[in-house]
Amino acid sequence: RRAQFAALRDKPPVTKDGTRITLMVNAGLRDDAAALDLTGADGIGLFRTEFQFLVSATMPLRQQQQRLYRDVLETAGDRPVVFRTIDIGGDKALPYLRQDDGDGEENPAMGWRAIRVALDRGGLMKAQARALIEAAHGRTLNVMFPMVSEPWEYDEAKAMFEAQRTWLHERGKRPLSIRYGAMLEVPALAEMLDILLPKLDFISIGTNDLTQFLFAADRANPKLAERYDWLSPAILRFLRRVRRECDTTPVTVCGEMGGRPLEAMALIGLGIERLSITPAAIGPVKAMVRSLDVPALRAQLAGWIDAGEPDIRARLTEFAESSGV
Ligand code: PEP
Ligand code: MG
Repeated sequence: RRAQFAALRDKPPVTKDGTRITLMVNAGLRDDAAALDLTGADGIGLFRTEFQFLVSATMPLRQQQQRLYRDVLETAGDRPVVFRTIDIGGDKALPYLRQDDGDGEENPAMGWRAIRVALDRGGLMKAQARALIEAAHGRTLNVMFPMVSEPWEYDEAKAMFEAQRTWLHERGKRPLSIRYGAMLEVPALAEMLDILLPKLDFISIGTNDLTQFLFAADRANPKLAERYDWLSPAILRFLRRVRRECDTTPVTVCGEMGGRPLEAMALIGLGIERLSITPAAIGPVKAMVRSLDVPALRAQLAGWIDAGEPDIRARLTEFAESSGV
């Protein structure tokens, strides 16, 4: 099967009925960008910039950050790279970043992390914004903010970037354009899409965090790992609603869910046609995509979701088998 997936490298992810699916990879280290050529992916849909911070004993300097981002953009060439600003704090604590409470937190996943840290420690975000904008000189910069819970947080983060963009513009560092996005991983944000969407260029759904918050189930607790299914009607209803509300705004799923062929099939059935997944999943997901008949799937899936079908996984498996996916 490995050889079979490798043979798919240069084949486009197009379904039987002609729907072009965008398949991108998740990355975080300089060498991860090589996965683009290895897999034939359309771009990097999630570059986790905190990796550089986590593997470093001291705060990475702006120049070091810039070098990493520039190298990744160069390897990507014409393919887009979506940089996520640092998602640190909570359980991904940095020894060189002082936490205000000193003793850690009882619920780090719901704690002082990601954009919450970035907005409180403006210096961190400012350095990262400059590094990204400088690295993207002459190109399009795609940047997204993690763990946005309310539109004002997105507004503030974007304003911080725009201030650095103005500052660098005067110094001759000018990206072609900057596209801004928010990660949807806190359920509260889904209630504010009408306010949020006009402000941004794209949405990326982080189903890892989103699921843990929807079900109040720690994503790192092995006792709960089997209990909540990504294919449960609750999640699929939630995602369907978000997809509908986003209308013309591009929506990507960048959580692990999209890297499993059956789950990816369900997402496509909901109209989510952009996935960013672990590189090893590109082959299996592309094979599924190329044998999928979307209209047939969509009709059936809608029925199961509306009826609250308790075992959508079994129904999807039958559908896949009977239609040769
Ligand atoms: C997610 O939460 O789904 C996500 C993609 O981000 P991370 O796994 O890095 O939290
Ligand atoms: Mg997340």
